[in-house]
Amino acid sequence: MSAVLIDGRAVAASVRDDVAEGVRAFTDSGAAPPKLAVVLCGNNAASAMYVRNKGRAAQNTGIVFELHTPAADTPTQELVSLVRRLREDESVDAILVQLPLPPQVDTQAVVDAVPPEKDADGFHPLNLGRLAEGRHVSVAPCTPLGCMELLHRYKIPVGGSRAVVLGRSIIVGRPMALLLTNADATVTVCHSKTRDLAAVTREADIVVAAIGRPRMVTGDFVKPGACVIDVGTTPGDSGPVGDVDRATVEPVAGWLTPVPGGVGPMTIAMLLRNTLSLARSRRGG
Ligand code: NAP
Repeated sequence: MSAVLIDGRAVAASVRDDVAEGVRAFTDSGAAPPKLAVVLCGNNAASAMYVRNKGRAAQNTGIVFELHTPAADTPTQELVSLVRRLREDESVDAILVQLPLPPQVDTQAVVDAVPPEKDADGFHPLNLGRLAEGRHVSVAPCTPLGCMELLHRYKIPVGGSRAVVLGRSIIVGRPMALLLTNADATVTVCHSKTRDLAAVTREADIVVAAIGRPRMVTGDFVKPGACVIDVGTTPGDSGPVGDVDRATVEPVAGWLTPVPGGVGPMTIAMLLRNTLSLARSRRGG
């Protein structure tokens, strides 16, 4: 047996098409297109590249992309004021603060200035709290949302399944566990203190690996036929390396997301979907 490889590029393209159609329907009703404002502070080359990709993807779907690039030495209070201005700006539907911010900046203070109704990343405590309550949310963190979309598009059964999430960060692991729980999976969250990780993951119908440990999840971690979602991306000599050892997992798993080309492309697609959802919630439509 060899796992079905989940094509994140194709699914992401399809999500972007859906968003573009949603934007057209929105503007056909006479509304201004959704607007995403991004704050990119400093000279981090990787961040600049991510933001360029986000901008290109947004514009291709008809979402207006407004970029703010304060200098690397901007004090916290000025960044907070900028986010507050965007918060008051009626034309802005969604705000994203690209992380990491320069070291002198109080990141929490800047991120906290983003209001829940313009929270493009889905990181606001109110939105995460709603997710934890199992309530409907118009936005959720983009990477876990992208993983859920892959499960959905490949018709992988989630309700009633045993799911194990490796990693408990607020960006990936925790919201992933909440989304799976809300979709009726029975979820176990593992982390660096978990004992006998492989024994836990071997119980799982769905394994989501988000630990940033290259190729740590090997074939002996996986129940035959399970779905393995690899969120990990560690820079390697010839491109990003996932948390999953494809050579040993592919022959055992039922489905597997490759790195690159699995979860990665989904993150930006879900950011665009979040932006459209926020525009709809704020302005109706
Ligand atoms: P993070 O904040 O560093 O969290 C890593 C988590 O993994 C922590 O909960 C940590 O446990 C756990 N962990 C570390 N080593 C472990 C081990 N040996 N066994 C079990 N658990 C272990 O990382 P993150 O932001 O969640 O990102 C995780 C990975 O996903 C990274 O490779 C990142 O680059 C990638 N990522 C990809 C995308 C994408 O779009 N594809 C988006 C976001 C992140 P403790 O809590 O006990 O420390």
